[in-house]
Amino acid sequence: MSAGRPAAGRVALVTGASAGIGKSIVRRLLQHGWTVHGAARRVEQMAELAAAGATVGPLDLSDEASMKACVRRVLDAHGRIDALVNNAGYGSYGALEDVSLAEARRQFEVNVFALVRMCQLVLPTMRAQRGGTIVNVSSMAGRGWTPFGGWYHATKHALEVLSDVLRVEVEPFGVRVVVIQPGRVESEWAATAARTLRKSSRASVYRDRVEPLAALLEDYGGAASPEVVSDAVVRALSSAAPRRRYATPLEARAAILLHWLLPDAAWERLTALGLRAAARRTRSAGRDDQN
Ligand code: NAP
Repeated sequence: MSAGRPAAGRVALVTGASAGIGKSIVRRLLQHGWTVHGAARRVEQMAELAAAGATVGPLDLSDEASMKACVRRVLDAHGRIDALVNNAGYGSYGALEDVSLAEARRQFEVNVFALVRMCQLVLPTMRAQRGGTIVNVSSMAGRGWTPFGGWYHATKHALEVLSDVLRVEVEPFGVRVVVIQPGRVESEWAATAARTLRKSSRASVYRDRVEPLAALLEDYGGAASPEVVSDAVVRALSSAAPRRRYATPLEARAAILLHWLLPDAAWERLTALGLRAAARRTRSAGRDDQN
């Protein structure tokens, strides 16, 4: 491993380990010598990680008892936690007029409140160890925004500021906080976003504008491999002085930079252009299907 922080004996808890990015993070950490516990609701989906040497167990981030039991399980098995990778999360999409507040709250519960709760549950151990790293998986969506993804963006924006505050609060105890900002990555994420977008706009005045975005999410062409994200997590955990943020791949860095540079009006025009381009693609794909 790189940068002089030996992984042997170090213990990581990775949430959302049953799919996509989380699965890849567990595999990469195992390869780098970490002791890893993967957690998610679909325990059966983590059998291959268990076969590769991880311990795995159930975690429902909308259930306080499940979160407590998960952290307790890691401490009982390994006696310490050196890294918490808060990776679990999902995108529930739809126009703000259409998405029920119950669904918005559910998304906040998993993407934001549970993420902070997991931090609260591991921090006493990390403080006692006088060391540890919390890695929060945000998104390029945590900086900019696009229409019809309002609640998802809100959860990731919230996660970004909470991570900054937490970093300063826990730094005196030797605990570090790192944010990972992935761009588009192959996983189950985009299918969930497309499904929720279609569902929320079934009988909606926004339906015609939403449909091209749903098609784009279903296609998700050009998405990067999850390894680009797990490599960034390993880099952060291997470094003696990790950066505050790791945006990856290049597309994420470019989008974040663009949002930072552009005035609000220009960003709005850019998102409108993006939706129109998606609509043109959907129309021409429809014509191709008819021919
Ligand atoms: P994914 O393939 O859909 O995986 C999501 C993971 O989160 C699954 O393991 C799922 O496990 C877990 N999860 C969801 N709800 C949960 C709950 N209530 N309790 C416990 N676990 C829950 O998506 P992914 O792309 O790997 O996403 C990982 C992270 O990357 C997310 O935070 C996402 O927002 C972020 N991200 C993804 C992309 C992308 O393009 N893929 C881009 C930027 C950021 P169970 O269903 O088994 O519980």
